[in-house]
Amino acid sequence: MTGDWFTETLYPEWRQSLQITSILHESKTRFQDVMVFENPRFGRVLTLDGVVQTTERDEFAYHEMMAHVPILAHGDVRRVAIIGGGDGGTLEEALKHAGIERAVMIEIDGEVVEICRQYLPDIAGDAFDDPRTELIIDDGVKFMRETGEIFDVIIIDSTDPMGPSMPLFGSEFYGDCGRHLSENGIIVTQSGVTFMQGDEARNTYARMKPIFADAALYVTQVPTYGAGYMTLGWGCRSMAPRQTPAETIEKRFAAAGLQTRYYSPAIHHASFALPAYIEALKT
Ligand code: SAM
Repeated sequence: MTGDWFTETLYPEWRQSLQITSILHESKTRFQDVMVFENPRFGRVLTLDGVVQTTERDEFAYHEMMAHVPILAHGDVRRVAIIGGGDGGTLEEALKHAGIERAVMIEIDGEVVEICRQYLPDIAGDAFDDPRTELIIDDGVKFMRETGEIFDVIIIDSTDPMGPSMPLFGSEFYGDCGRHLSENGIIVTQSGVTFMQGDEARNTYARMKPIFADAALYVTQVPTYGAGYMTLGWGCRSMAPRQTPAETIEKRFAAAGLQTRYYSPAIHHASFALPAYIEALKT
């Protein structure tokens, strides 16, 4: 960070900078460096270990697609698990579905949750206080290995594969998730900005393929996840959810009464139509 600019150093050969109008919080937790600062265009910005995690102004493009695509494809989600997701944005979107009875969020770093609740309250809204929410401060790998629960949707909203999130991108963890999915259960994962982190999506797909009847990738576009499409991994125990007819998705979307700014039934299906350079990773 030089002067009044934050520069993301995720890649050695490509950087993005955001102007800092004020720093609201800086600390080092047991797991990572945390910073929250104000930017004129993106509002409040959360970074972990120097990497942009979410911003008030463009978080919708990520959290809506992480939550509504699997939940509306499934059609009858009662129990959802979110691994990571410390800012609460994915949790908030999931809880907009009235049919959800239980939302378990397993976040390894409780300080991230506290910092986000204090400095980025609009991202989670009142999701953490929703009676359906259970927040567990623990390693998602350990939780998925030990839990006896079955979920209809599991959302892996983790940091990039480094440090504690590394095992969340592995076959063993995907296998554990598979064992805790209901019949038409779906797992979705953040799998990186593919133009810069192609291996993440390649590996996610290759590791999901042997485990799930339906392994796929879909995309969203988040301005502060710079350099192109953000790819999300999809694993499902059956083909049915992803083959849900467009008119059914439209009916479910209308019935859910969602106000969205990125997700739409049209985008739901279009997001699985990948640019050739991403499709080519599914070899
Ligand atoms: N949207 C962001 C992205 O796509 O990079 C992720 C946001 S969220 C802040 C990422 C969270 O994953 C962090 O709060 C981090 O503490 C958490 N995390 C990393 N490894 C984890 C693990 N093994 N179990 C649970 N949470 C983990």
